[in-house]
Amino acid sequence: MPELPEVETVARNVEPHIIHKTISRCEVSWPKTIATPSVEMFQKKIVGQKVNSVSRRAKFITIRLGQDSLLIHLRMSGDLVICNQDRAPQPHDRATIHFSDETRLVFNDPRKFGRLWLVNDPEVVTGHLGYEPLSPSFTVAILAQVLGSSHRNIKAFLLDQTQVAGLGNIYTDEALFRAGILPTRKTNDLSKKEVEQLHFAIRSVLEVGIAQNGASFDWVYRGGNFQNNFMVYQRNGQPCKICGEKITKARLGQRGTHYCLNCQK
Ligand SMILES: [Zn+2]
Repeated sequence: MPELPEVETVARNVEPHIIHKTISRCEVSWPKTIATPSVEMFQKKIVGQKVNSVSRRAKFITIRLGQDSLLIHLRMSGDLVICNQDRAPQPHDRATIHFSDETRLVFNDPRKFGRLWLVNDPEVVTGHLGYEPLSPSFTVAILAQVLGSSHRNIKAFLLDQTQVAGLGNIYTDEALFRAGILPTRKTNDLSKKEVEQLHFAIRSVLEVGIAQNGASFDWVYRGGNFQNNFMVYQRNGQPCKICGEKITKARLGQRGTHYCLNCQK
């Protein structure tokens, strides 16, 4: 599933192609793709609106339009494709937004879990989300505060989008390795120094991920290079790049979790 760096990359790639352009029509070939409002209302309301900005909140792409905001969640396999009228429709195209200059923004999603929302206020969709880890308001003190209010293991905590938003399985495992913290540790058991290390690790792993256009390791998301920097993710059985110990994979909660028993305490 695309995580913060992959979604940021998609948003940055799409923006220059659609900014300041006006939507002329919208086709929907898989009705469930539209989360809200109804498909008919979505198609009616979106026409004539101009794109003011394209940004990201957690794993949501937020396209601010003249009146409303279009929010997109790629979930497992969603992708945004920019093209013109020469591109023939593809089997997994779920919605196509046409612009008046004939640019098209296609939402392609083989597994059909991705969703689009057209809302007046983006907070209706994203209001429940926790701290944006790269924002200046996400300080060491804030992280210490939210960690201290929880008793869960740190892996489950970091995956919880209502606490810190945007991390998924890859960047959680990679951040915990870089912080030297075992994923099974309890959040309220971390030392001050470990919280500082974790804060630094979360930010740096996301920043490096964005700088490398995210991670590509399956057929879903292409064009990224961060997979070449994985220290633990999907490296189970391979030697740790720091100490040589074999990387361990275990199930924690419902998720495969990768770590080094020697480097992480
Ligand atoms: Zn190691």
